[in-house]
Amino acid sequence: MHNLRLNEEACTGCGACVETCPFGALILEGDIVRVGENCNDCGACLSSCPTEALILERPEPTVSVDLSAYKDVWVVVEYGRAGISHVALELLGKGRQLADTLKCRLCALILGDGVSRLSEEAFAHGADVVYLVESPVLRKYRTDPYVEAASVLVRKYKPEIVLLGATTTGRDFAGALATEIGTGLTADCTGLEIEPEGRNLVQTRPAFGGNIMAQILCRRHRPQMATVRPKVMELPERVDGKKGEVITEPVDLDEEKFLTRVLEFVKEEGSTVNLADANVIVSGGRGLADPKHFAVIEELAKTLGGAVGASRAAVDAGWIPYPHQVGQTGKTVRPKLYIACGISGAIQHLAGMQTSDIIVAINKDPDAPIFKVATYGIVGDLFKIVPLLTEKFAKRLGK
Ligand SMILES: Cc1cc2nc3c(=O)[nH]c(=O)nc-3n(C[C@H](O)[C@H](O)[C@H](O)COP(=O)(O)OP(=O)(O)OC[C@H]3O[C@@H](n4cnc5c(N)ncnc54)[C@H](O)[C@@H]3O)c2cc1C
Repeated sequence: MHNLRLNEEACTGCGACVETCPFGALILEGDIVRVGENCNDCGACLSSCPTEALILERPEPTVSVDLSAYKDVWVVVEYGRAGISHVALELLGKGRQLADTLKCRLCALILGDGVSRLSEEAFAHGADVVYLVESPVLRKYRTDPYVEAASVLVRKYKPEIVLLGATTTGRDFAGALATEIGTGLTADCTGLEIEPEGRNLVQTRPAFGGNIMAQILCRRHRPQMATVRPKVMELPERVDGKKGEVITEPVDLDEEKFLTRVLEFVKEEGSTVNLADANVIVSGGRGLADPKHFAVIEELAKTLGGAVGASRAAVDAGWIPYPHQVGQTGKTVRPKLYIACGISGAIQHLAGMQTSDIIVAINKDPDAPIFKVATYGIVGDLFKIVPLLTEKFAKRLGK
Protein backbone atom coordinates (compact mmCIF):
# COMPACT_ATOMS: atom_id res chain seq x y z
CA MET A 1 0.00 0.00 0.00
CA HIS A 2 1.62 3.24 -1.13
CA ASN A 3 0.89 6.88 -0.30
CA LEU A 4 1.82 8.45 -3.64
CA ARG A 5 -1.16 10.21 -5.22
CA LEU A 6 -1.62 11.79 -8.61
CA ASN A 7 -3.45 15.08 -9.10
CA GLU A 8 -5.04 14.11 -12.40
CA GLU A 9 -5.93 17.69 -13.26
CA ALA A 10 -2.33 18.80 -12.96
CA CYS A 11 -0.81 15.80 -14.79
CA THR A 12 0.02 16.65 -18.43
CA GLY A 13 1.12 13.10 -19.31
CA CYS A 14 4.63 14.30 -20.19
CA GLY A 15 6.09 11.06 -18.80
CA ALA A 16 9.08 12.73 -17.08
CA CYS A 17 8.36 10.88 -13.83
CA VAL A 18 8.21 7.48 -15.57
CA GLU A 19 11.91 7.75 -16.39
CA THR A 20 12.93 8.58 -12.84
CA CYS A 21 11.13 5.75 -10.99
CA PRO A 22 13.80 3.18 -10.02
CA PHE A 23 11.10 0.50 -9.62
CA GLY A 24 9.13 1.00 -12.86
CA ALA A 25 6.07 1.77 -10.73
CA LEU A 26 4.88 4.74 -12.82
CA ILE A 27 3.12 3.80 -16.02
CA LEU A 28 2.02 6.18 -18.76
CA GLU A 29 -1.47 5.22 -19.92
CA GLY A 30 -2.60 7.48 -22.73
CA ASP A 31 -1.99 10.99 -21.45
CA ILE A 32 -2.13 10.17 -17.75
CA VAL A 33 0.25 8.48 -15.35
CA ARG A 34 -0.85 5.54 -13.22
CA VAL A 35 0.89 4.68 -9.95
CA GLY A 36 1.50 0.91 -9.80
CA GLU A 37 1.10 -1.21 -6.67
CA ASN A 38 4.86 -1.75 -6.50
CA CYS A 39 5.38 1.95 -5.63
CA ASN A 40 7.22 2.05 -2.31
CA ASP A 41 6.97 5.78 -1.58
CA CYS A 42 10.67 6.38 -2.18
CA GLY A 43 9.86 9.84 -3.55
CA ALA A 44 12.48 9.75 -6.32
CA CYS A 45 9.85 10.92 -8.84
CA LEU A 46 8.63 14.02 -6.99
CA SER A 47 11.13 16.58 -8.26
CA SER A 48 10.84 15.35 -11.88
CA CYS A 49 7.20 16.48 -12.29
CA PRO A 50 7.10 19.96 -13.85
CA THR A 51 3.50 20.53 -12.69
CA GLU A 52 3.87 19.06 -9.19
CA ALA A 53 1.09 16.58 -9.94
CA LEU A 54 2.65 13.87 -7.77
CA ILE A 55 1.86 14.18 -4.08
CA LEU A 56 3.40 12.05 -1.36
CA GLU A 57 1.91 12.31 2.11
CA ARG A 58 3.51 9.78 4.35
CA PRO A 59 1.47 9.10 7.50
CA GLU A 60 3.11 10.06 10.76
CA PRO A 61 4.74 6.92 12.16
CA THR A 62 3.37 5.42 15.33
CA VAL A 63 6.03 5.86 17.94
CA SER A 64 6.79 2.57 19.66
CA VAL A 65 9.19 3.70 22.38
CA ASP A 66 9.34 6.64 24.75
CA LEU A 67 11.82 8.72 22.74
CA SER A 68 12.31 11.21 25.57
CA ALA A 69 13.88 8.47 27.73
CA TYR A 70 16.90 8.37 25.39
CA LYS A 71 19.78 10.80 25.68
CA ASP A 72 23.47 11.22 24.77
CA VAL A 73 25.49 10.39 21.70
CA TRP A 74 27.65 7.26 21.87
CA VAL A 75 30.64 6.24 19.78
CA VAL A 76 31.67 2.59 19.88
CA VAL A 77 35.45 2.76 20.01
CA GLU A 78 37.57 0.44 17.89
CA TYR A 79 41.25 0.30 18.69
CA GLY A 80 44.51 -1.43 17.87
CA ARG A 81 48.01 -1.60 19.33
CA ALA A 82 48.62 2.05 18.46
CA GLY A 83 45.52 3.22 20.34
CA ILE A 84 42.07 4.33 19.23
CA SER A 85 41.56 3.81 15.49
CA HIS A 86 41.33 6.82 13.19
CA VAL A 87 37.74 6.14 12.26
CA ALA A 88 36.67 6.11 15.92
CA LEU A 89 38.47 9.45 16.47
CA GLU A 90 36.71 10.85 13.40
CA LEU A 91 33.40 9.67 14.85
CA LEU A 92 34.20 11.32 18.17
CA GLY A 93 34.69 14.56 16.20
CA LYS A 94 31.32 14.19 14.47
CA GLY A 95 29.69 12.93 17.68
CA ARG A 96 30.89 16.06 19.50
CA GLN A 97 29.09 18.28 16.96
CA LEU A 98 25.90 16.23 17.26
CA ALA A 99 26.04 16.23 21.07
CA ASP A 100 26.56 20.02 21.11
CA THR A 101 23.55 20.49 18.85
CA LEU A 102 21.43 18.19 21.02
CA LYS A 103 22.88 19.71 24.22
CA CYS A 104 23.78 16.30 25.60
CA ARG A 105 26.93 14.35 26.44
CA LEU A 106 29.30 12.60 24.07
CA CYS A 107 30.13 9.13 25.38
CA ALA A 108 32.69 6.57 24.19
CA LEU A 109 31.90 2.89 24.67
CA ILE A 110 35.10 0.89 25.11
CA LEU A 111 34.90 -2.89 25.34
CA GLY A 112 37.95 -5.13 25.80
CA ASP A 113 40.47 -6.42 28.30
CA GLY A 114 43.03 -4.06 29.85
CA VAL A 115 41.87 -1.12 27.76
CA SER A 116 41.25 1.56 30.39
CA ARG A 117 44.31 3.48 29.07
CA LEU A 118 42.23 4.42 26.02
CA SER A 119 39.92 6.64 28.11
CA GLU A 120 42.34 9.58 28.11
CA GLU A 121 42.60 9.47 24.34
CA ALA A 122 38.81 9.45 24.07
CA PHE A 123 38.55 12.49 26.37
CA ALA A 124 41.26 14.31 24.41
CA HIS A 125 39.16 13.83 21.27
CA GLY A 126 35.94 15.20 22.69
CA ALA A 127 34.27 12.52 24.86
CA ASP A 128 32.68 13.65 28.15
CA VAL A 129 32.11 10.12 29.44
CA VAL A 130 33.71 6.72 28.84
CA TYR A 131 31.67 3.59 29.47
CA LEU A 132 34.20 0.85 30.06
CA VAL A 133 33.53 -2.87 30.06
CA GLU A 134 36.55 -5.08 30.72
CA SER A 135 36.62 -8.84 30.69
CA PRO A 136 39.02 -11.56 29.47
CA VAL A 137 36.09 -12.75 27.32
CA LEU A 138 36.34 -9.46 25.41
CA ARG A 139 40.10 -9.74 24.71
CA LYS A 140 39.54 -10.25 20.97
CA TYR A 141 36.49 -9.09 19.04
CA ARG A 142 33.78 -11.73 18.68
CA THR A 143 30.22 -10.88 17.73
CA ASP A 144 28.30 -12.60 20.52
CA PRO A 145 30.09 -11.42 23.68
CA TYR A 146 30.55 -7.89 22.28
CA VAL A 147 26.88 -7.63 21.39
CA GLU A 148 25.85 -9.01 24.77
CA ALA A 149 28.01 -6.51 26.66
CA ALA A 150 27.00 -3.54 24.50
CA SER A 151 23.30 -4.37 24.59
CA VAL A 152 23.32 -4.53 28.40
CA LEU A 153 24.71 -0.98 28.48
CA VAL A 154 22.46 0.36 25.74
CA ARG A 155 19.37 -0.98 27.53
CA LYS A 156 20.52 0.47 30.84
CA TYR A 157 21.74 3.93 29.76
CA LYS A 158 19.53 4.47 26.67
CA PRO A 159 21.68 6.48 24.26
CA GLU A 160 19.86 8.53 21.65
CA ILE A 161 22.47 7.91 18.94
CA VAL A 162 25.10 5.16 18.54
CA LEU A 163 27.85 5.54 15.91
CA LEU A 164 30.30 2.87 14.73
CA GLY A 165 33.04 2.77 12.08
CA ALA A 166 32.11 0.97 8.85
CA THR A 167 35.12 -1.32 9.20
CA THR A 168 35.05 -5.11 8.95
CA THR A 169 34.46 -5.32 12.70
CA GLY A 170 32.14 -2.32 12.88
CA ARG A 171 29.88 -3.62 10.12
CA ASP A 172 29.53 -6.97 11.87
CA PHE A 173 29.05 -5.45 15.32
CA ALA A 174 26.57 -2.75 14.26
CA GLY A 175 24.20 -5.08 12.44
CA ALA A 176 24.15 -7.63 15.22
CA LEU A 177 23.71 -4.97 17.94
CA ALA A 178 20.87 -3.22 16.09
CA THR A 179 19.10 -6.57 15.70
CA GLU A 180 19.57 -7.46 19.36
CA ILE A 181 18.21 -4.15 20.67
CA GLY A 182 15.52 -3.92 17.99
CA THR A 183 16.35 -0.65 16.27
CA GLY A 184 17.28 0.55 12.78
CA LEU A 185 20.76 0.98 11.35
CA THR A 186 21.99 3.08 8.44
CA ALA A 187 25.23 1.74 7.00
CA ASP A 188 27.98 3.75 5.29
CA CYS A 189 26.65 7.22 6.02
CA THR A 190 28.41 10.12 4.35
CA GLY A 191 26.61 12.80 6.33
CA LEU A 192 25.08 13.01 9.83
CA GLU A 193 23.11 16.03 11.03
CA ILE A 194 20.29 16.76 13.47
CA GLU A 195 16.92 17.71 11.96
CA PRO A 196 16.46 21.48 12.23
CA GLU A 197 13.20 20.88 14.11
CA GLY A 198 13.19 17.92 16.47
CA ARG A 199 15.94 15.58 17.57
CA ASN A 200 16.02 13.04 14.76
CA LEU A 201 19.36 12.15 13.21
CA VAL A 202 19.37 12.79 9.47
CA GLN A 203 21.52 10.02 8.06
CA THR A 204 22.69 10.69 4.50
CA ARG A 205 24.08 7.91 2.32
CA PRO A 206 24.33 7.11 -1.39
CA ALA A 207 21.51 4.90 -2.72
CA PHE A 208 20.48 3.37 -6.05
CA GLY A 209 24.06 2.77 -7.16
CA GLY A 210 25.18 6.18 -5.95
CA ASN A 211 22.71 8.02 -8.18
CA ILE A 212 20.84 9.68 -5.33
CA MET A 213 21.78 10.73 -1.82
CA ALA A 214 19.12 9.29 0.49
CA GLN A 215 18.30 10.91 3.82
CA ILE A 216 17.21 8.30 6.31
CA LEU A 217 15.43 8.89 9.62
CA CYS A 218 14.80 6.41 12.40
CA ARG A 219 11.70 8.03 13.89
CA ARG A 220 10.08 5.22 15.83
CA HIS A 221 12.97 3.46 17.50
CA ARG A 222 15.94 4.31 19.66
CA PRO A 223 18.88 4.44 19.60
CA GLN A 224 19.44 5.76 16.09
CA MET A 225 22.38 3.75 14.79
CA ALA A 226 24.74 4.57 11.94
CA THR A 227 28.07 3.39 10.57
CA VAL A 228 30.52 5.68 8.79
CA ARG A 229 33.51 4.65 6.72
CA PRO A 230 37.03 5.76 7.63
CA LYS A 231 38.06 9.18 6.30
CA VAL A 232 34.52 10.40 5.65
CA MET A 233 34.44 12.64 8.75
CA GLU A 234 37.20 15.00 9.78
CA LEU A 235 39.68 14.10 12.46
CA PRO A 236 39.05 16.34 15.50
CA GLU A 237 41.88 18.25 17.12
CA ARG A 238 43.39 16.58 20.15
CA VAL A 239 43.06 18.55 23.37
CA ASP A 240 45.53 17.08 25.85
CA GLY A 241 44.57 17.19 29.49
CA LYS A 242 40.81 17.30 28.85
CA LYS A 243 39.10 15.30 31.58
CA GLY A 244 35.92 13.25 31.70
CA GLU A 245 34.09 10.66 33.72
CA VAL A 246 34.87 6.93 33.45
CA ILE A 247 31.94 4.63 34.24
CA THR A 248 33.18 1.09 34.68
CA GLU A 249 30.35 -1.32 34.10
CA PRO A 250 30.60 -4.89 35.34
CA VAL A 251 28.95 -7.23 32.85
CA ASP A 252 28.69 -10.92 33.62
CA LEU A 253 30.02 -12.72 30.54
CA ASP A 254 30.30 -16.50 30.65
CA GLU A 255 32.90 -17.83 28.18
CA GLU A 256 31.18 -21.23 28.10
CA LYS A 257 28.08 -19.65 26.62
CA PHE A 258 29.79 -18.36 23.48
CA LEU A 259 30.24 -20.71 20.58
CA THR A 260 33.17 -19.06 18.81
CA ARG A 261 36.89 -19.05 19.73
CA VAL A 262 39.61 -16.94 18.11
CA LEU A 263 42.43 -19.39 17.36
CA GLU A 264 44.80 -17.17 15.37
CA PHE A 265 44.96 -14.21 13.04
CA VAL A 266 46.13 -14.93 9.48
CA LYS A 267 47.26 -11.95 7.43
CA GLU A 268 45.43 -11.82 4.11
CA GLU A 269 47.66 -12.07 1.03
CA GLY A 270 47.88 -8.82 -0.87
CA SER A 271 46.25 -6.76 1.85
CA THR A 272 49.35 -4.67 2.48
CA VAL A 273 47.88 -1.69 0.62
CA ASN A 274 46.99 0.96 3.13
CA LEU A 275 45.06 3.42 1.04
CA ALA A 276 43.14 4.84 3.99
CA ASP A 277 46.28 6.23 5.64
CA ALA A 278 48.20 7.31 2.50
CA ASN A 279 48.88 11.04 2.09
CA VAL A 280 49.38 10.63 -1.65
CA ILE A 281 47.44 8.27 -3.90
CA VAL A 282 48.02 7.79 -7.62
CA SER A 283 45.12 5.91 -9.19
CA GLY A 284 44.75 4.27 -12.56
CA GLY A 285 41.60 3.42 -14.50
CA ARG A 286 40.45 1.82 -17.70
CA GLY A 287 42.44 4.44 -19.62
CA LEU A 288 45.55 2.40 -18.80
CA ALA A 289 44.26 -0.16 -21.35
CA ASP A 290 46.50 -2.99 -20.11
CA PRO A 291 47.53 -4.35 -16.68
CA LYS A 292 51.23 -3.92 -17.46
CA HIS A 293 50.68 -0.18 -17.79
CA PHE A 294 50.07 0.06 -14.04
CA ALA A 295 53.89 0.25 -13.90
CA VAL A 296 53.58 3.92 -14.99
CA ILE A 297 51.27 4.59 -12.04
CA GLU A 298 53.48 2.67 -9.61
CA GLU A 299 56.55 4.71 -10.67
CA LEU A 300 54.83 8.01 -9.92
CA ALA A 301 53.39 6.70 -6.64
CA LYS A 302 56.84 5.45 -5.57
CA THR A 303 58.47 8.78 -6.41
CA LEU A 304 55.90 10.65 -4.31
CA GLY A 305 56.03 8.11 -1.47
CA GLY A 306 52.37 7.31 -2.10
CA ALA A 307 50.07 4.35 -2.64
CA VAL A 308 48.48 2.98 -5.81
CA GLY A 309 44.72 3.19 -6.19
CA ALA A 310 42.40 2.08 -8.97
CA SER A 311 38.93 2.45 -10.38
CA ARG A 312 36.53 -0.45 -10.26
CA ALA A 313 36.84 -0.88 -14.03
CA ALA A 314 40.56 -1.64 -13.58
CA VAL A 315 39.85 -4.00 -10.67
CA ASP A 316 37.00 -5.79 -12.47
CA ALA A 317 39.26 -6.28 -15.48
CA GLY A 318 41.66 -8.14 -13.15
CA TRP A 319 44.46 -5.62 -13.71
CA ILE A 320 44.97 -4.94 -10.00
CA PRO A 321 43.59 -6.58 -6.81
CA TYR A 322 40.47 -5.31 -5.04
CA PRO A 323 42.24 -3.78 -1.98
CA HIS A 324 43.37 -0.99 -4.35
CA GLN A 325 39.83 -0.03 -5.38
CA VAL A 326 38.68 3.48 -4.51
CA GLY A 327 34.99 4.35 -4.48
CA GLN A 328 31.58 3.42 -3.25
CA THR A 329 32.24 -0.30 -3.26
CA GLY A 330 35.95 0.12 -2.56
CA LYS A 331 37.78 2.34 -0.08
CA THR A 332 36.94 5.90 0.89
CA VAL A 333 40.13 7.92 0.91
CA ARG A 334 41.04 11.45 1.89
CA PRO A 335 44.72 11.97 0.99
CA LYS A 336 46.47 15.33 0.69
CA LEU A 337 47.01 14.59 -3.01
CA TYR A 338 44.95 12.31 -5.28
CA ILE A 339 46.09 11.87 -8.88
CA ALA A 340 43.51 10.20 -11.13
CA CYS A 341 44.96 8.86 -14.37
CA GLY A 342 42.67 7.60 -17.12
CA ILE A 343 39.63 7.62 -14.79
CA SER A 344 36.41 9.14 -16.12
CA GLY A 345 35.03 10.19 -12.71
CA ALA A 346 31.84 8.13 -12.39
CA ILE A 347 29.76 9.12 -9.35
CA GLN A 348 30.66 5.84 -7.61
CA HIS A 349 34.39 6.62 -7.96
CA LEU A 350 33.94 10.22 -6.82
CA ALA A 351 32.08 8.97 -3.73
CA GLY A 352 35.36 7.50 -2.50
CA MET A 353 37.82 10.32 -3.22
CA GLN A 354 36.18 13.70 -3.72
CA THR A 355 37.06 14.95 -0.24
CA SER A 356 40.80 14.65 -1.00
CA ASP A 357 42.62 17.94 -0.34
CA ILE A 358 44.05 18.31 -3.87
CA ILE A 359 42.82 16.33 -6.86
CA VAL A 360 44.82 16.18 -10.08
CA ALA A 361 43.02 14.58 -13.04
CA ILE A 362 44.76 13.41 -16.19
CA ASN A 363 42.38 12.46 -18.98
CA LYS A 364 42.41 12.82 -22.74
CA ASP A 365 38.68 13.68 -22.78
CA PRO A 366 38.19 17.36 -21.83
CA ASP A 367 34.56 16.61 -20.92
CA ALA A 368 35.37 13.78 -18.49
CA PRO A 369 33.34 14.33 -15.26
CA ILE A 370 36.50 13.90 -13.15
CA PHE A 371 37.47 17.45 -14.17
CA LYS A 372 34.43 18.77 -12.26
CA VAL A 373 35.98 17.76 -8.94
CA ALA A 374 39.63 18.29 -9.92
CA THR A 375 41.74 21.05 -8.39
CA TYR A 376 44.05 20.76 -11.41
CA GLY A 377 43.07 19.13 -14.68
CA ILE A 378 45.51 18.01 -17.35
CA VAL A 379 43.88 17.16 -20.69
CA GLY A 380 46.12 14.78 -22.56
CA ASP A 381 47.54 11.30 -22.96
CA LEU A 382 48.47 9.83 -19.59
CA PHE A 383 51.28 7.81 -21.17
CA LYS A 384 53.04 11.06 -22.01
CA ILE A 385 52.02 13.10 -18.95
CA VAL A 386 52.54 10.65 -16.08
CA PRO A 387 56.19 9.79 -16.95
CA LEU A 388 56.93 13.53 -17.32
CA LEU A 389 55.43 14.18 -13.87
CA THR A 390 57.48 11.32 -12.41
CA GLU A 391 60.66 12.76 -13.92
CA LYS A 392 59.96 16.30 -12.70
CA PHE A 393 58.96 15.20 -9.17
CA ALA A 394 62.02 12.92 -8.94
CA LYS A 395 64.26 15.87 -9.80
CA ARG A 396 62.51 18.21 -7.36
CA LEU A 397 62.62 15.64 -4.57
CA GLY A 398 66.25 14.76 -5.31
CA LYS A 399 65.49 11.11 -6.11
C1 LIG B 1 26.80 -0.12 -7.59
C2 LIG B 1 28.06 0.33 -8.25
C3 LIG B 1 29.18 0.51 -7.47
C4 LIG B 1 30.36 0.95 -8.08
N1 LIG B 1 31.47 1.16 -7.29
C5 LIG B 1 32.57 1.69 -7.85
C6 LIG B 1 33.72 1.98 -7.06
O1 LIG B 1 33.78 1.70 -5.85
N2 LIG B 1 34.79 2.54 -7.67
C7 LIG B 1 34.80 2.84 -9.01
O2 LIG B 1 35.82 3.35 -9.50
N3 LIG B 1 33.76 2.55 -9.78
C8 LIG B 1 32.64 1.96 -9.24
N4 LIG B 1 31.60 1.65 -10.04
C9 LIG B 1 31.77 1.71 -11.51
C10 LIG B 1 31.66 3.11 -12.07
O3 LIG B 1 30.31 3.37 -12.38
C11 LIG B 1 32.49 3.23 -13.39
O4 LIG B 1 32.07 2.23 -14.27
C12 LIG B 1 33.99 3.10 -13.16
O5 LIG B 1 34.42 3.96 -12.14
C13 LIG B 1 34.71 3.45 -14.47
O6 LIG B 1 36.07 3.28 -14.31
P1 LIG B 1 37.08 4.14 -15.18
O7 LIG B 1 36.88 5.58 -14.93
O8 LIG B 1 38.44 3.57 -14.96
O9 LIG B 1 36.66 3.71 -16.67
P2 LIG B 1 35.95 4.56 -17.81
O10 LIG B 1 34.71 5.15 -17.33
O11 LIG B 1 35.91 3.67 -18.99
O12 LIG B 1 36.95 5.76 -18.08
C14 LIG B 1 38.22 5.63 -18.65
C15 LIG B 1 38.74 7.04 -18.87
O13 LIG B 1 40.07 6.97 -19.35
C16 LIG B 1 40.26 8.02 -20.30
N5 LIG B 1 41.41 7.62 -21.14
C17 LIG B 1 41.50 6.60 -22.01
N6 LIG B 1 42.73 6.52 -22.51
C18 LIG B 1 43.45 7.52 -21.96
C19 LIG B 1 44.79 7.96 -22.10
N7 LIG B 1 45.67 7.33 -22.87
N8 LIG B 1 45.16 9.05 -21.37
C20 LIG B 1 44.30 9.72 -20.57
N9 LIG B 1 43.02 9.33 -20.42
C21 LIG B 1 42.60 8.24 -21.08
C22 LIG B 1 38.94 8.10 -21.03
O14 LIG B 1 38.78 9.38 -21.63
C23 LIG B 1 37.94 7.84 -19.92
O15 LIG B 1 37.49 9.05 -19.34
C24 LIG B 1 30.42 1.20 -9.47
C25 LIG B 1 29.26 1.01 -10.24
C26 LIG B 1 28.10 0.58 -9.64
C27 LIG B 1 26.87 0.41 -10.48
